Amino acid sequence: MMKKKAGSRFPASRFPFPISHFHIVRKEIVGISSKKHSETTTSKGAIFMEQIFDFDLLIIGSGTGGYVAAIRASQLGLKTAVVEKDKPGGVCLNWGCIPSKSLIHQAETYGSIHGLEKMGLKVDVSGFDYCKVYKKSRKTSETLSRGITYLLNKNNIEFIKGEAKIVRNHEIIVNGEKKITGKNIIVATGSRAREIPSFPIDEDTVLSSTGALMMQELPETMLILGAGAIGVEFAHIFNAFGVKIHLVEMLDQILPLEDAETAAVLNREFRKRKIKIYTGTKASSMEKKDDVIEVVLEAKDGKQKIVEVEKILVAVGRTPNSENLGLENVGIKTDRGFIPVGDYYKTVVPEIFAVGDVIESSQLAHVASKEGEIAVEYMAGLKPESRIDPDTIPGAVYCEPQVGSFGPTESKLQETEVKYEKFVFPYRGAGKSVAIEKPAGLAKVLVNPDTHEILGASVVGAEATEIIHELLLAKSAKLLPRDIAEMIHAHPTLSEVNMELMRGIEGWAIHV
Ligand code: FAD
Repeated sequence: MMKKKAGSRFPASRFPFPISHFHIVRKEIVGISSKKHSETTTSKGAIFMEQIFDFDLLIIGSGTGGYVAAIRASQLGLKTAVVEKDKPGGVCLNWGCIPSKSLIHQAETYGSIHGLEKMGLKVDVSGFDYCKVYKKSRKTSETLSRGITYLLNKNNIEFIKGEAKIVRNHEIIVNGEKKITGKNIIVATGSRAREIPSFPIDEDTVLSSTGALMMQELPETMLILGAGAIGVEFAHIFNAFGVKIHLVEMLDQILPLEDAETAAVLNREFRKRKIKIYTGTKASSMEKKDDVIEVVLEAKDGKQKIVEVEKILVAVGRTPNSENLGLENVGIKTDRGFIPVGDYYKTVVPEIFAVGDVIESSQLAHVASKEGEIAVEYMAGLKPESRIDPDTIPGAVYCEPQVGSFGPTESKLQETEVKYEKFVFPYRGAGKSVAIEKPAGLAKVLVNPDTHEILGASVVGAEATEIIHELLLAKSAKLLPRDIAEMIHAHPTLSEVNMELMRGIEGWAIHV
């Protein structure tokens, strides 16, 4: 039997042979400090060895998946380290949700100036300095990224700067030098912009979303490839600042994952703002000519059109960051780049978990965080739900009007032959929407016709990303439409849209 010096650390990596050469059974004591582990022998002579690890949990990546998992782990008593090669906070805080929402906020503030004259205000706008808009968005990101460092410190989480690679089941190496062991590992390495061969991203004329966020001067014209959430949000931002936008989507509607009626409202509002929308259209090639790029668009019927623009933004999805992670060292095979996971976001290696954009689930910040929480709570011996119920994930798109939704769309229910009843309530039926001059929009609910259980809902209109949560709470808490219909809502509020929607499905909406 191998002897271990009292009190010394004895990580698997320092055995002269692979650990499987010994009859060693690792005792599962999760959540207990890694320093207290020891070695015992059974009556049958087998060695029960509790490996000593540097940490209970090692997390690769400090995005919304990684840092939230780390804080939850620390709350549950796990000694935790986060390894990050870039800035704390990952894409969401640095190159995604937060800087884009700062730009959206500024774009909407700027856009609202045009309506002020009607209210009797005299406004002389002699122009604007986009560089200041950009700088403000960067400052917001930096503030929040610093906030993550503060939270990690406060929770006694070790933040290790560097690029991590998995060496074996319980061990990673940082920057090819520093080996660290962990009882469990979470891979939360996120994603990057997907590229398409005919539009190679150079972050100069052909941009990814990161390049678009980092622009300090605006072009006159831009073609946006892809009208998912990221594409339409950038169309909204740059159009508000006066850029001529061509928005190209291969599928038949903008926001292809959203309800068709919802997407139609946004489509109408975008067209009013002179955003050129090409649905059912493929951008097939580009050619740089002096100061412009000629882009060939091909409609479904084969008709071609050439559009001249200054810049192209490629927003056609995200590719998981699963390369160069050493997954092959532990036998994890990816599927189209995604790390396959089972219950509690466990990979094929029981001690290695994966969460967030690097696995095949909705690539959203709040999904990454929830997945991280589930994995950690499971490791700590709690009994969380084994997976997120996809029908309870809220989706949010921050344009004017905003979109908020959850659950299956109407067309999905039709495709899968699920019976449903629906009700649609127009935004203008809620007095507040008219008072604040934002009457465009609707709310739609889909329910089981027999039980009235809420299946899904979609809201497009002012503050839709906020008010959707009352409907989602109802679904999550297994409330019925009548519970919201009968609850008194303050007047005038946009939340009255929810009340009327639920009254409508019960057959007694008042303001329609
Ligand atoms: P990430 O945030 O990508 O973080 C992964 C981290 O891992 C990165 O910091 C990376 O540097 C690090 N890393 C990778 N490999 C290694 C390694 N080998 N060693 C060490 N570190 C490593 N979602 C929303 O919910 N709402 C929104 O409004 C929204 N807006 C968005 C706008 C844009 C423009 C973009 C691009 C995305 C947006 N998203 C939004 C999506 C959201 O940003 C992602 O879903 C979220 O960031 C995923 O979190 P994550 O933790 O999985 O990965």
